[in-house]
Amino acid sequence: MIDPILPTYNRVDLVFERGEGAWLFTKDGERYLDFTAGIAVNVLGHAHPHLVAALTEQAGKLWHISNVFRIEGGERLAKRLTEATFADTMFFTNSGAEALECAIKMARKYHDANGAPERYRMITFEGAFHGRTLATIAAGGNPKYLEGFGPAMPGFDQVPFGDLAAVRAVIGPQTGAILIEPVQGEGGVRTASWAFLRELRALCDEKGLLLILDEVQCGVGRTGKFFAHEWAGITPDIMAVAKGIGGGFPVGACLAKEEAAKGMVAGTHGSTYGGNPLAMSVANAVLDVVLAEGFMEQVQTTSARLRQKLAELKDRHPAVIAEVRGEGLLVGLRTHVPNTDLVVALRAEHMLVPTAGENVVRLLPPLTIGEEEIEAAFTRLDAACTRLESGLRPEAEKQAVKGAAA
Ligand SMILES: *Cc1c(COP(=O)(O)O)cnc(C)c1O
Repeated sequence: MIDPILPTYNRVDLVFERGEGAWLFTKDGERYLDFTAGIAVNVLGHAHPHLVAALTEQAGKLWHISNVFRIEGGERLAKRLTEATFADTMFFTNSGAEALECAIKMARKYHDANGAPERYRMITFEGAFHGRTLATIAAGGNPKYLEGFGPAMPGFDQVPFGDLAAVRAVIGPQTGAILIEPVQGEGGVRTASWAFLRELRALCDEKGLLLILDEVQCGVGRTGKFFAHEWAGITPDIMAVAKGIGGGFPVGACLAKEEAAKGMVAGTHGSTYGGNPLAMSVANAVLDVVLAEGFMEQVQTTSARLRQKLAELKDRHPAVIAEVRGEGLLVGLRTHVPNTDLVVALRAEHMLVPTAGENVVRLLPPLTIGEEEIEAAFTRLDAACTRLESGLRPEAEKQAVKGAAA
């Protein structure tokens, strides 16, 4: 019999009752170190007092009114985001995929407004993840996500990640934009070099293409800058944001330069819930914290400290850990064992982490972790790796180890 919830997820059999910072608690009080953080969503951890206060205060006033009216929280959020980024304007959504949908529509409309509607095609990259709607699975190009859902939406040309020659080669008269994650999350925590981003920017300028960044996972402080492209010293024309911007409340946004947004006039796009007062109050509260003086420096310090410990971990467990990669607190551990083995071993140590492509385990802690959480993570990782190593040893040696322990 089918589960009353459509069985599209392989869920872990754990139920959490509450959270606090980087910790999750089950009903019977068992404590887990949460380095999944809602998959890079809970940037300020669980139950951050400032976010709780913002949400509950707004909840007593107004939840939803529709975008036929002005929404002051949204106006304030947009103004703050334009001041803190390259963007002149933005559209609010409830998710990352919707932010990408807006970005894709905007790019097509831009060329249409310029009298070149044939330039609807977009270059995307292997290993990309842009969401699960029909357009975003076509953009992501992962055959696993496309299979069985009929013809993929046309208009996407995929090339190897980081391959500038391939990008150049695929540009044709119908190409209108390039879409890339500065750091691929689901794809395996892979960083397009900052030099590559600069080359793409130059190429877009040369060919009249729009550069669209998907910073749904790597944005909002995850890499130690407000947005990852700041490391490259470039700006995109359009950028999709979600996950961290709501700190756990569903919020997304499609940010754009005025020129890129010129086709998106009244009536061209909409969303019932996008930018609702509850979401806007929480996102503004997230900005209060992440845009505060010294926050990004703190993320960079924390990341450096975590990486130091992870380098030590790799030295201690070369048979398990193949590579430590990523940027800031978007960290990937490529493993020699199946990545899911490390995930399961870590869960036994009461630490929660997600996987990624290329046999990677992701570490996505809240950006607010301190020395205690870093130490707790190291202890758990060390124990999990030790457990896996004993499983890797020949059977006879395992018996000897067991005997010695007994
Ligand atoms: C999670 C993610 C998305 C999709 O976001 P949803 O909120 O699940 O629709 C898009 N792009 C990237 C890079 C992501 O990590």
